[in-house]
Amino acid sequence: MAEVLVYVDHVDGAVRKPTLELLTLARRIGDPVAVALGAGAANTAATLAEHGAAKVLTDEAAEYADYLVVPKVDALQAAVEAVSPAAVLVPSSAEAKEIAARLALRIGSGVITDAVDVEAGDEGPVATQSVFAASYSTKTRVSKGTPVITVKPNSAPVEAAPAAGTVEALSVTFSAQATGTKVTGRTPRESTGRPELTEAAIVVSGGRGVNGSENFAIIEALADSLGAAVGASRAAVDAGWYPHTNQVGQTGKSVSPQLYIANGISGAIQHRAGMQTSKTIVAVNKDAEAPIFDLVDYGVVGDLFEIVPQLTEEIKTR
Ligand code: FAD
Repeated sequence: MAEVLVYVDHVDGAVRKPTLELLTLARRIGDPVAVALGAGAANTAATLAEHGAAKVLTDEAAEYADYLVVPKVDALQAAVEAVSPAAVLVPSSAEAKEIAARLALRIGSGVITDAVDVEAGDEGPVATQSVFAASYSTKTRVSKGTPVITVKPNSAPVEAAPAAGTVEALSVTFSAQATGTKVTGRTPRESTGRPELTEAAIVVSGGRGVNGSENFAIIEALADSLGAAVGASRAAVDAGWYPHTNQVGQTGKSVSPQLYIANGISGAIQHRAGMQTSKTIVAVNKDAEAPIFDLVDYGVVGDLFEIVPQLTEEIKTR
């Protein structure tokens, strides 16, 4: 059976959920071989093995933390040359997408970004993308070389699938460009205690209808009652009511949670572009004609200042 490389996103050995989702997809195509880089890489092996990694290639060189993405591209190129995989799957984070593009260029193949599904095909893996503000789904295949595919978080379930997870050291020779851009400092963002927006299973968003930064407290309260992340429309962000890091949409983040709750958001196409692949969509809007109601699974026509606190209280009683 063909092997499939999975790039591991981890923090000091703690594997992030999108990587486990990649393992689920990788098993549909072949035997997953995980590539874990940087401090704590070897500590990822047990978790990766529980979720189907037949092999884990690791390298803990300091270069991965000290420099921007090129050392990681060097490592993945070495892994591709060692394994000759059927595909390379990478999570759709900003950094990993840059790695994917550079890798595809290096190995003379093609890259497919932001896939929402990947399946085996007669002529190689086929990725599903959601395009034109999620108005269409396209099936895409790389026609030359080893496909490099980035996959959006929440595109596949995390599945237990015990495998060998044999750890092997990856031999990497860094290229001349690897040390071109040095990281000079890192400032951790203050934690809100909420899940990362792009990885959250539930996202509660607020738009212009929230009418002020202080009113985002009711959006946050609903989010906290559900263990959700908080999102915002561009109108709310441009008004300075919520940080740009939380913007959902074409020029913000793309999310695909199990549940998306839009409050006081009209449903402009640029907002839909970032959330339309959510599995279940709920909207609260006082205008029954708002376009958001065209795509919801459940819609509430009403004033969010009445509905959202009631919903929060109801959820808290359960
Ligand atoms: P509005 O469209 O003003 O809608 C507010 C809604 O709140 C209305 O439907 C109203 O009925 C409802 N409302 C008001 N008060 C209440 C209340 N008390 N209770 C319940 N409902 C209430 N937008 C994004 O979101 N993300 C992007 O990434 C993005 N990128 C863009 C890129 C480009 C190039 C361009 C041109 C635009 C982009 N936009 C983006 C902007 C987008 O076109 C819309 O302007 C924006 O999404 C509108 O935000 P909104 O729905 O919060 O505001």
